[in-house]
Amino acid sequence: MYRCALCNVAVAPNRRARQVVTEVRPKSYPMRMRATPVKGRGKKRIWRDDPGGRGWEASKVAMVCENCLPEAQARLESKIAGIEATRALQPVTEEGEVPEAVQTSL
Ligand SMILES: [Zn+2]
Repeated sequence: MYRCALCNVAVAPNRRARQVVTEVRPKSYPMRMRATPVKGRGKKRIWRDDPGGRGWEASKVAMVCENCLPEAQARLESKIAGIEATRALQPVTEEGEVPEAVQTSL
């Protein structure tokens, strides 16, 4: 038994709860040289580079009922689309990263 975060209704017992990401923030990871061991032992070990990348990091999750699940997912997708639209308009530095001051304002 739990209370839905969206419709605020107490859900009956033995009903499945869904955890849905409600807030995300953009996250980028730098490239790391020789980050992952792939083969061998000791000095003979072979290390592979981690290419890094960018994506989304969940910052808030909420428990919602099955009725509100599609709405919660649609809200998150529209939120991500909105953030991507504002990021596309903002200036990008030479490394392809959004400046630090811009990231905190998102
Ligand atoms: Zn609900």
